[in-house]
Amino acid sequence: MYDPDNIFGKILRGEIPSTRVYEDDDTLAFMDIMPRAEGHVLVIPKTPCRNMLDASPEQVAAVMKTVQILSRAMMVAFEADGITLQQFNEAAGGQEVFHLHFHVLARHEGDRLWA
Ligand code: 5GP
Repeated sequence: MYDPDNIFGKILRGEIPSTRVYEDDDTLAFMDIMPRAEGHVLVIPKTPCRNMLDASPEQVAAVMKTVQILSRAMMVAFEADGITLQQFNEAAGGQEVFHLHFHVLARHEGDRLWA
């Protein structure tokens, strides 16, 4: 079940601030408030969706398109050596905010990846 009062729903509606870095008709990307790397962006669909278990093929396609655009852009913007993608589903899977999102993290040689 999707609860529209989740924090990313509020960001989408402009009810709480965020640092937006990319947007198209179907998706929004913004900086994570507690970054685990210098470049840590979250990509979400604009339509209601709890997580990957709940997503339509169209939502997955739209989000993954933006994830790839952001990954390529962050390699340049953060002079990164690599990119980590993370995505969690349900509380037992590590999900804390129940609106589908992908983490995109810019990585540099020598980074501790799982800190
Ligand atoms: P997950 O659900 O994938 O475990 O993690 C949710 C992510 O959302 C965390 O990395 C957390 O720092 C981020 N987050 C939580 N609240 C906010 C917020 O109000 N604004 C932004 N930009 N990120 C948030």
